Amino acid sequence: MTDGFRVGLGFDFHPFDQDRRLMLGGVRIPHPEGLRGHSDADALLHAVTDALLGAAGLRDIGAWFPDTDPAHRDSSSLIFLEKAYELVRGRGFAVVNLDITVLAEAPRIQPHVEAMKVSLARVLAVETGRIGLKATTMEGCGPIGRREGIAVQAVVLLARSGGDR
Ligand code: MG
Repeated sequence: MTDGFRVGLGFDFHPFDQDRRLMLGGVRIPHPEGLRGHSDADALLHAVTDALLGAAGLRDIGAWFPDTDPAHRDSSSLIFLEKAYELVRGRGFAVVNLDITVLAEAPRIQPHVEAMKVSLARVLAVETGRIGLKATTMEGCGPIGRREGIAVQAVVLLARSGGDR
């Protein structure tokens, strides 16, 4: 049996906050509201970070970057993704591909997909063709449908890269 591949799943939700800027995938998205959270509340990067950590058996984003740490207040979540991927590579794994779904009634995500892919590809050192990124609404139902926040799902596949374990 091969031990060469690991799959990881990430999910995150943050509520809207009128006093925040909206950051998704490391990209500033023009919108009247941002997301509430200790860091920049980038739900997309949090979901991808959790998928990476989960695939490598490295617990979760809250364990490595606790929201009780003042150092993380308002910080860019790109830092979490970078550090998490360092940990994953330290375990001898590299990203094969990832797939992401944003659940949001607003704003429209499509105009920003390419910029988000470039942002992720830079940190993960993969070509953008290995990143799937799509969005769906909740057809007006539930908290997301009522525009109370944004949720993101991410799945990632890692392969053994021959690094130190
Ligand atoms: Mg989060």
